[in-house]
Amino acid sequence: MIDFTSIITDSLNDYWGGIKARELGVFWPSEASTSAPQGLIGKCHRAIFYSFAGTALTNPISGKATRKMLAGKSIEQNEHLFAERAGILAAKNVKTRKNFGDITISAEIDAIYARDGHQVIAEIKSIGGYFAMSEVFGTAKKPGHPKSDNLLQVILYLDIFPQYQSCLLRYIDRTDCETKDFTVTLRKVGGISLATVDGEIQPDFSLERILDRFRLLNSYILANTLPPRDYRPIYSVTDLAEINSKLKGKSKRLCDWRCNYCVFRDRCLKEEKVYGNH
Ligand code: SF4
Repeated sequence: MIDFTSIITDSLNDYWGGIKARELGVFWPSEASTSAPQGLIGKCHRAIFYSFAGTALTNPISGKATRKMLAGKSIEQNEHLFAERAGILAAKNVKTRKNFGDITISAEIDAIYARDGHQVIAEIKSIGGYFAMSEVFGTAKKPGHPKSDNLLQVILYLDIFPQYQSCLLRYIDRTDCETKDFTVTLRKVGGISLATVDGEIQPDFSLERILDRFRLLNSYILANTLPPRDYRPIYSVTDLAEINSKLKGKSKRLCDWRCNYCVFRDRCLKEEKVYGNH
């Protein structure tokens, strides 16, 4: 008997193909990161370095993850249809680039909504799973907040598209299609551009720190030097003891969650220790 399920899943395993060739000095907002008092927030330098180096994927995106990403794409497209029907869709998938000295950010925003002369950037994200839902939609004890990676991305959009004063960051639950919106703006405070979420300043999220991280990454790429690991692809005994004592129990995780989804994890693990922080 033919296993049609496996045939589809196997074909999805190859869906994204390999890494596409990259243009030197050009980065995407989804690759943003920043240093913060609680540690690094956002994407790992080393993983982006591998993509510039054309490194073969050692841990390709699974069929399941591909389904999830494509479901998110469909949700985004539906939102465009709804906005169009409501008569507020001024533009969708708007692309542009901005140079910041030695680096360039190439951005594509999901949509522009307009009504009565007021225009905003709209960024649509689909989410699911307990942790993402409690973070974004909030719990009885803690109000919801945008995901850090999305906030970093939106900061760049607001600087690159300064004609729009704010961004409507919309989350849609993939399970029951509940929505949660945040209004994000950029505000100058003491010469630094900080994000605000629903009017509240976010001291850990500044445009300048994001750009500093991109410049540091660019210097590694230009020098062809592998950056240190920003996360831990495997926990040491000490890491596990620390995590277990923090969680007051036994952690099921063996690495930082970003490494769990990293398409270069096995390659990263094979590198000489001298390169890594961990
Ligand atoms: S496995 Fe983790 S540390 Fe290594 S490149 Fe990927 S995200 Fe970075």
